[in-house]
Parts: sequence; C-alpha cells; structure tokens
Amino acid sequence: MFVKPIEFKAKVKSIINLVPSIFEYKFEVLDLDFEYKAGQFAMMIFDSLIDDSKNVSRAYSISSKPNSKEFELCVEIIEGGQAGTYFSALTEGQIVDFKGPFGMCYIKPENQNDLIMIATGTGIAPIKSIVDDLIAKGDKRKIEILFGVRYEENIFYQDLLDSYSKHENINARITLSKPSEDWNGLKGRVTSHLDEFNWENKDLYICGNGAMIREVRQFGLDQGLDKKQIHLEIFDS
Ligand SMILES: Cc1cc2nc3c(=O)[nH]c(=O)nc-3n(C[C@H](O)[C@H](O)[C@H](O)COP(=O)(O)OP(=O)(O)OC[C@H]3O[C@@H](n4cnc5c(N)ncnc54)[C@H](O)[C@@H]3O)c2cc1C
Repeated sequence: MFVKPIEFKAKVKSIINLVPSIFEYKFEVLDLDFEYKAGQFAMMIFDSLIDDSKNVSRAYSISSKPNSKEFELCVEIIEGGQAGTYFSALTEGQIVDFKGPFGMCYIKPENQNDLIMIATGTGIAPIKSIVDDLIAKGDKRKIEILFGVRYEENIFYQDLLDSYSKHENINARITLSKPSEDWNGLKGRVTSHLDEFNWENKDLYICGNGAMIREVRQFGLDQGLDKKQIHLEIFDS
C-alpha cells in the first residue's frame, strides 16, 4: 500500500560514532506518526551551514525497522558536504525537518522469495531495516548478506551481522577490498564473491555506490533474475 509522504519534525535522541566518519543517529518523531516500510528512505531538509542555501534536502535510508514514533539513520559524514556539515553540528535534543517516506526498495507482502542482499558502506542501512523487520516478524526465508568495506578500521555493525548469522536462515558476511595481511576473513570487492551464491529464485537487494550496484545488477540479470526481482538504492549518481 502506497503511503503518501508527509513533512514532519524529529528530535535527535542519540548519536553514536560507529567508526571514523560513520554515525548512527536515532530520532524521535514529534507530534504525529511516521509510517514507513522497511527499506524506504526519508529526505532531511535543512538550511545550509556553508552558504545561504535554504531548504537543502538529502536522502537517507532508514536503518531501523518500522516504528511510527522513532527511526535511525546510518550516515557517512562527507567532509565539506552540505549535509555532512549539518550532521557534524547536530547535537542531542535538536529538532530536524524531514519528509518521507520514499523509495521502492522494500519487500512486497506477497513476495516470499529468498534473498541475496549486497551492500557497501552505509548501503547496509536499508538492508538492516529489512532484515530487522523480517526477524521481528518471525519470517524464516533464507537470507544471504554480503557487506563490503575497504579496511578493517571501516568495519561497523560486525556484532549485528554476527547476531544475524546466529539465525539458521541467515548468513551474513563481510568482505574487505583492501585488507591488511592479518585479515583472515573474506577478501576482495563484493563483486568478486557473486559466483558463490545460488541465484535460483532469489530476490536481489543492492545498496550503496552506483558503480558497484550496476555491476551486481548485471550479474543478477546474467544469472536469469527478472528485473522485478532486483531492488536497488543508489546513494550516489
Ligand atoms: C535514496 C538515497 C538514500 C541515501 N541513503 C544514505 C544513507 O543511508 N546514508 C548515507 O550516508 N548516505 C545516504 N545517501 C547519500 C546522501 O543523500 C548524500 O548524498 C550524502 O550524505 C552526501 O551529502 P552532502 O550534502 O554531505 O554532500 P554534498 O554537498 O552533496 O557533496 C559534497 C561533495 O562530496 C561528494 N560526495 C557526495 N556523496 C559522496 C559519497 N557518498 N562519497 C564520497 N563523496 C561524496 C560530492 O560529489 C561533492 O563533491 C543516500 C542517497 C540517496 C539518493
């Protein structure tokens, strides 16, 4: 069911620094209910702290499972960016303007297919929302998650992914594209592990940077997936 986007205000409840430049922001929705589906995004609307621009907007995938009274974002602060500068100055208790929900990167209720979910960097945000929601609903479909970052020091949500893998139906793995010699885990870009999956009758979710998404999407199509089975959220152009 389509939910019409609404404008609303939300208060910063907490800010957690996950790794350098990546933060988790928890917001409390004020005055009304914010209904969204797991995997959707909201636009943050703010006045620039860099120049005179008013009502600048940037999209952020919601990283928490649906809850009409609160939501979380997982944000990479781009130094010198409009939103990056605004986020850097945010403090607990501050009120922020949003509009949403938007986006099609969610699971339709009638779709029961097993999932392959590929993310790089903060692209893990919508995937976290979807997986947390499925777990909360007791959904037991098979889920393969592959999360790519560059270096060991960029790894975040390791505990979360480990907790996912404790579920019989979920296998969550991290791969490093620039590992140190000490790294014993998966190595290489996410795209170098795509032939490890069984692609039959899977729905594919891909979130993160555009170049990676285009490559993974093409791989999925080459494996025989229909376009309708591929769901994307591109964070850059
Ligand atoms: C649907 C959607 C969902 C998104 N969800 C998230 C999310 O959950 N978490 C998140 O962190 N971001 C997310 N983004 C990206 C986000 O909207 C902003 O683009 C990002 O935060 C940069 O905004 P900015 O205003 O700080 O930078 P800008 O002022 O727009 O750009 C400043 C400079 O940084 C460069 N730049 C912009 N983005 C990046 C980048 N990712 N890496 C390196 N350089 C960059 C620009 O080319 C420019 O030169 C999403 C984008 C879309 C379209």
